[in-house]
Amino acid sequence: MTAVAEVQQDWVPSTRTLLIGDTDASPQGETWDVYNPATEDVLATVGGASSSQVDAAVAAARKAFPAWAALSGAERSKYLHRFADVLEKAADRLLPSIVNEVGCPVSLASYLQVKMAVDEHLRWAAEAAKTDRTIHLGEYDKPVPTMSDVVHQPVGVVAAITGYNYPLNLAIFKFGAALAAGCTVVLLPSPRTPLTTLFLGDLIKEAGLPPGVMNVIVGGADVGQQLSSHPGVDRVSFTGSDGVGAKIMEQAAANLAGVTLELGGKSPSIVLEGVDVEKIAVEMHLRWARNGGQGCAALARLLVHDSVYDQFLEAGASAFDQMVVGDPWDPATNIGPMIRPDHQARVNGFVDGAIDDGGRKLLEVTKPLPEKGWFVNPVLLGDLPHSARAVQQEIFGPVAVIVPFKDTEEAIRLANDTAYGLAANVWCDDPIEARRVAEQVRAGTVWINGGGAMRPDAPFGGYGRSGVGRELGEWGMKEYLEVKHIQWRI
Ligand code: NAD
Repeated sequence: MTAVAEVQQDWVPSTRTLLIGDTDASPQGETWDVYNPATEDVLATVGGASSSQVDAAVAAARKAFPAWAALSGAERSKYLHRFADVLEKAADRLLPSIVNEVGCPVSLASYLQVKMAVDEHLRWAAEAAKTDRTIHLGEYDKPVPTMSDVVHQPVGVVAAITGYNYPLNLAIFKFGAALAAGCTVVLLPSPRTPLTTLFLGDLIKEAGLPPGVMNVIVGGADVGQQLSSHPGVDRVSFTGSDGVGAKIMEQAAANLAGVTLELGGKSPSIVLEGVDVEKIAVEMHLRWARNGGQGCAALARLLVHDSVYDQFLEAGASAFDQMVVGDPWDPATNIGPMIRPDHQARVNGFVDGAIDDGGRKLLEVTKPLPEKGWFVNPVLLGDLPHSARAVQQEIFGPVAVIVPFKDTEEAIRLANDTAYGLAANVWCDDPIEARRVAEQVRAGTVWINGGGAMRPDAPFGGYGRSGVGRELGEWGMKEYLEVKHIQWRI
């Protein structure tokens, strides 16, 4: 683990201060330690915002809003591209921050957590800032002749609250679209992974965004609660668990502020009859185990047709041989640690609970785990009823479940038999049947035969307990825009 210690020296953000308006504010709230989950070392001690600092951050965003909203889309686009340039230049400092605080393997993080976030998603938002969304409705003659336009205007101040697993992506998904739309932002990261976002605070200043357009505060649930129920906030955009999402909805309701909720999932990967499982089993297993299974769209519920079930298990064994659990800085590693020991215990608890429910470990990694770090060996669980906790609840770790089915209609019924509806994959050789099944599955994104990408121009979000509203693409932009009908008599 020496690599971690070496890189640690020069990446911790130069300031641990909050960014409120144009001031680097010293935190006045509670302090806590941020850990490296792979080594259990303390990376930094950070201080959270006090209640008056939350007020100050919202006030700074409110003050900055009229001028930022009044800029042309082309001007906002320039600012966002400049910000993307600064982030690109800082990629070699953002990467260690993410690898160290999230424990995400460097092999995955360099593209997915940094390059993709900036090159694809922030750049897309920068271009979307320029779009003229005015709709000319033309003439209407009742009761008197009129003409109408529909215009879009920024909703105001956005509270952006993110989960721990993809700190830069989740922040960019929110502030990219919000700033492009003309809103101003108060960004609050997870208290477990706040360092990348604090570092962003430094980079915002370097990029020359006008003061107050984007503010960065840190804190725990109390700060999140104050921010999401703040009367100065017009919209809350949240990524995290469904339990906290429900609280946020209630908190925002006090001011009738709108919410965008990007929540968890229990996403199915459906292997229909006739599919060559030798070709896909390894890809499927490596996909759900990505980032140690700590991905909202992890396809960790494998629904496999009876006729290929045994063959699928045999073919998947080599994926488990390819799973390397350990030091995120080792390029060979593809499974990092769980974020904290309580989460590690929760994930292990799902495995123990599944055995109690009559389930079995069908495939697993059995190599000894590193002595330090909150690691869990990947497991595929089977022989469980569909009502079992491990089949129904989001585990958010390297544990998947496999469930056989007899025919396609049963596969669709099982796929939809959860409270969630974030994503799904359909494996099928017949494109017409694949499309039919994709339309029957209740999920915000359905991939056919793999791929699994989040396009910056396509919507992402969930049905049911997976969320409210959408991020990304024009659908993500609309979350931050009010719609106004302007009608004039002719
Ligand atoms: P979490 O819900 O525990 O915490 C998320 C954030 O909410 C943190 O910043 C936390 O401080 C804050 N918070 C806690 N209580 C609050 C309250 N009462 N009011 C306001 N804020 C409060 O989530 P997590 O463990 O950090 O992230 C994992 C979860 O996020 C998983 O369920 C995962 O599926 C989900 N997720 C969803 C997406 C998506 O796009 N759908 C993406 C990534 C993660």
